[in-house]
Amino acid sequence: MSEQPKTGQLTFVAPRRAKPQRHLADLTMAERRAAVAEIGEKPFRADQLSRHYFTRLTGSPEQMTDLPAPLRERLVEQLMPPLLTSVREITCDGGTTRKNLWKLFDGSLVESVLMRYPDRVTMCVSSQAGCGMNCPFCATGQAGLTRNMSTAEIVEQVVAGARALARGEVPGGPGRVTNVVFMGMGEPMANYKAVIGAVRRLVDPAPEGLGISARGVTVSTVGLVPAIGKLAEEGLPVTLAVSLHAPDDELRDTLVPINTRWKVAEVLDAAWSYAARTKRRVSIEYALIKDVNDQEWRADLLGRLLKGKLVHVNLIPLNPTPGSKWTASRPEDERAFVRRLESHGVAVTVRDTRGREIDGACGQLAAAPQP
Ligand code: SAH
Repeated sequence: MSEQPKTGQLTFVAPRRAKPQRHLADLTMAERRAAVAEIGEKPFRADQLSRHYFTRLTGSPEQMTDLPAPLRERLVEQLMPPLLTSVREITCDGGTTRKNLWKLFDGSLVESVLMRYPDRVTMCVSSQAGCGMNCPFCATGQAGLTRNMSTAEIVEQVVAGARALARGEVPGGPGRVTNVVFMGMGEPMANYKAVIGAVRRLVDPAPEGLGISARGVTVSTVGLVPAIGKLAEEGLPVTLAVSLHAPDDELRDTLVPINTRWKVAEVLDAAWSYAARTKRRVSIEYALIKDVNDQEWRADLLGRLLKGKLVHVNLIPLNPTPGSKWTASRPEDERAFVRRLESHGVAVTVRDTRGREIDGACGQLAAAPQP
């Protein structure tokens, strides 16, 4: 596993490690056809296989009755290797919130969370095993970066949730994944290529992909400015979320160490360019930490920075990590913070804290001791 980083230390380049086996979900349709041709089969087999995986959500050869039996085994072996093994599943909210801890082929642990609401189902997925961004309030950041996840490893988390929903395993009847947020473990913009591949698989219409609306996908970042610029050019109207957590460089340098590279003004400029380019409202994430970043003057400063922009502020009551010296803001301070922001005409909501009792909020399951 990775070593614990020193305070403020950033890790951009993931350690070199063995890669997971290639999977259908790593490939575009054209690449899948080429891969099938390489093993001596007709390219249309790739379409059939894609339909099983992305439309019917099945990975078991017995169900692929439109393929000759011996071929099924071969195709599955070559293009649908198992990538995630369930280590633990915990549910709460009457079964409508479920958190999975997954083991990857090399033993790395990652987690995903499914949250079902009356009008939507949101999945929160991981993009790296661990994280190199070292935010001191985040459990994942404390453990360092183990490795980048592959596109298919990222997609598989969503497919697993989609399967559970389609089979009616989540209370509320059969359903579909409508939203995906890259807010699990890892910094998505530090694993850019795999994350973009995963976003494409999520939004491509079935059977090439899962056919989820791009508007339902949110990519969250600490603020890797060049990558935000690149994302704006992808022609994918996904929502960008920026983990700001402080409106001033002095405090942000300590809460989000990447700020020592790209300052508040630079990350906000990148966010406004993103909004202009995609016409999508940017989401500003702000974890309210008692007596650290929750002062009214900071709300005022934040309000002045965001005023008049295509933006929405998501306040997150801090979910203290084990042994943390920090805790969530007092309710009256939270209310005052909201009022101050609103006085600048800035749209703001306080995030619901689903999954808190199952450590479903931010890297805590993988960090917890294993049974
Ligand atoms: N690396 C990305 C995405 C993962 S974290 C990013 O930082 O944006 C998703 C969100 O949860 C981020 O805004 C992150 O700052 C926040 N977060 C992490 N730990 C938290 C905690 N203990 N309490 C509240 N929010 C937390």
